[in-house]
Amino acid sequence: MLRANSLCKSYPTRSGDLPILTDVSVALDRGESAVIMGPSGSGKSTLLNILGTLESPDSGRLTIGDQDPFSLSGCDLARFRNQHVGFVFQDHHLLPQCSVLENVLLPTLAASNSDDCTAQAEELIEQVGLTNRSDHRPAELSGGERQRVAIARALINSPSVVLADEPTGNLDRRSAESVAQLLLALPAADGVVLIVVTHSELLADKFERKFDLLDGTLTPR
Ligand code: ADP
Ligand code: MG
Repeated sequence: MLRANSLCKSYPTRSGDLPILTDVSVALDRGESAVIMGPSGSGKSTLLNILGTLESPDSGRLTIGDQDPFSLSGCDLARFRNQHVGFVFQDHHLLPQCSVLENVLLPTLAASNSDDCTAQAEELIEQVGLTNRSDHRPAELSGGERQRVAIARALINSPSVVLADEPTGNLDRRSAESVAQLLLALPAADGVVLIVVTHSELLADKFERKFDLLDGTLTPR
């Protein structure tokens, strides 16, 4: 479902190119999940952004399903990302002026279908345990509740890949636990590929496949 082959990425600096990813390969089937750990600045977010097609690699190949997303041009790539990839960030990235329901529906506005997705959004909001908060704004929710909204939003377009960058980094232990449970249930329930970046050993221990990102490459731990 998701296959990365020899991804490389460097960023230009005043003293020359700074290599971040030197040779990253990973393959995950439908329903599989993996956790990526590694020191701050090792390139975890860069890697997740490339796997989610937000950034392109300098070289190497990514396939999601049977598509090479980077062969697509701007608009087509954005549409592909909208349809196939769900993101959960450390900071929830919810729109403050929108209700929970509206936030969950946001990704459907960009999708080119004209179906009313409200029922589906309400179902996801129920799945993350926030039915009675549907009309609330993000400011009225706890950190854990906001992350659960972010998970519902990531799922609204039925993505094949869900990527979470330190999703429990800002949460207390109990909220982190409930967010982790929701994420970990996804691969089996929806057949998605799930990749989570975390500093939490507690969260990492729940994954079958664990990797360290060190010196620009992924090594199984
Ligand atoms: P991590 O998520 O593991 O903490 P990042 O992927 O955010 O690491 O960053 C890896 C390195 O790349 C850091 O040294 C960071 O400063 C650098 N970096 C990230 N994005 C950019 C960018 N757009 N331009 C230049 N350098 C960047
Ligand atoms: Mg990061």
